[in-house]
Amino acid sequence: MRIYILNIFLLLILAVPANAKEIPQTLTITNSNTWPPYSFTGENGEPRGLLIDLWREFGRRNKKKVEFILTDWSESLELLKSKKDIIHGGLYKSNERSEYMDFTEPLALPLNTRLFVSTKLNITKLSELGNIPLAVTKDGYAEAYIREKYPEIQLTPFPNENVISESRLAFATDYPAAMYHLHRMGAHDKFYVAETLYTKRLSVAVSKGNEDLRDFIEKGMKDIPDQEINRITQKWIQAVSITPDWLLPAAITAFCIMAGGFIFLYIFTLKRQVAARTKELREMSQTDMLTGLYNRRRMDEIMQHEFDRFRRYNTPLTLILIDIDYFKNINDTHGHTIGDDVLIRFAEILISSTRKTDRIGRWGGEEFLIVCSETTSDEGALLAEKLRHRIAEASFPAINKCTASFGITEINKDDDFTSLFARCDAALYSSKEQGRNKVTVV
Ligand code: GH3
Ligand code: MG
Ligand code: MG
Repeated sequence: MRIYILNIFLLLILAVPANAKEIPQTLTITNSNTWPPYSFTGENGEPRGLLIDLWREFGRRNKKKVEFILTDWSESLELLKSKKDIIHGGLYKSNERSEYMDFTEPLALPLNTRLFVSTKLNITKLSELGNIPLAVTKDGYAEAYIREKYPEIQLTPFPNENVISESRLAFATDYPAAMYHLHRMGAHDKFYVAETLYTKRLSVAVSKGNEDLRDFIEKGMKDIPDQEINRITQKWIQAVSITPDWLLPAAITAFCIMAGGFIFLYIFTLKRQVAARTKELREMSQTDMLTGLYNRRRMDEIMQHEFDRFRRYNTPLTLILIDIDYFKNINDTHGHTIGDDVLIRFAEILISSTRKTDRIGRWGGEEFLIVCSETTSDEGALLAEKLRHRIAEASFPAINKCTASFGITEINKDDDFTSLFARCDAALYSSKEQGRNKVTVV
């Protein structure tokens, strides 16, 4: 009998793996405090961003509390060297980092790092920078990547909130974060994207020797359905909603528990936050994320407004519809990423060659629309000719040369949306028919 009990006891000991460690009840996640839209601190110091939402979802599904230490980028890496049980919420895997971190499999969160160059310069590749200093995030992946691949480039590392500044001549950073910052600074027309350096997926990391925690996270992340990850990604990258869903409950709670002047003060602060966030999201929802131009939704609104103005004041209005020639060949020959780079460069040429009053949007895949108010079709044709020349003479990433066809039409009093666009389309079609790289006015 005693031997029997002893056997059971031994079996129990063997069934528990010798190195099984408890997964802490509270997960402490670190990351940057200035890396929108991935992780950053909001106006009141609260953690915000795509990765923050992802980790909250992870905590909810795995019944863990999550808390965040958002700090300077270098400091967030240091924390994994100095403390156990700290999790890095999202970063690229690298050999150097693998010396003191254990990484999970990459998450379904790809992002690309691009070279942004001031419009004062004319550079199409990183290797053309010469001795122009290139700003990068201190201890960021891009710093190590460029140092290794392009040792001749003169790098100037900054803490990440300082990398993007109007005074830079060139910087290399993640595309969504750069667009977010440039938009907020009103400086997106001061830089153009010269080159996509790489596209990689983010991973999660824990301090070395914490494999149990790493495996727990890896499994938990895999269990989050793609749908949920897409929902979180779209919320931050494509900005589909402009009304925060916490607004109503927060306002009602405040009303119930606070009185008099305190309520007034609270609501006042709340409204300011909402207005700022709504403005930010409205700007994002009106922008084409690839080129930084207005998107089709915004162009529809602009057209509606211009129609109203024409009916009231009868001032001339001209549309220029532009379609890149043989664009499918570019994708087929060089790949979709180069195709995207061509679209970005194309958009920059349109912006730098038009007036502030001309509104430019991405109308479809490789079609662009310019709405020129107070402009006749003759004046529009001059502008289109100028654009056609600039495009044909410009140099594009990888493909070098590229042309476009133009259709132009001016509004008349019998027009509605359909007739106006049908005419503009017909003009464009005629340019294509005549062999492309042409301007046609109808
Ligand atoms: P044409 O001179 O007659 O205009 O020929 P085309 O090849 O430019 O026209 P077509 O309409 O056949 O092809 C347009 C291509 O544009 C097909 C589509 O895959 C590509 N495209 C659409 N949107 C994007 C995008 O966002 N990025 C990239 N890289 N390609 C895109
Ligand atoms: Mg087309
Ligand atoms: Mg085309």
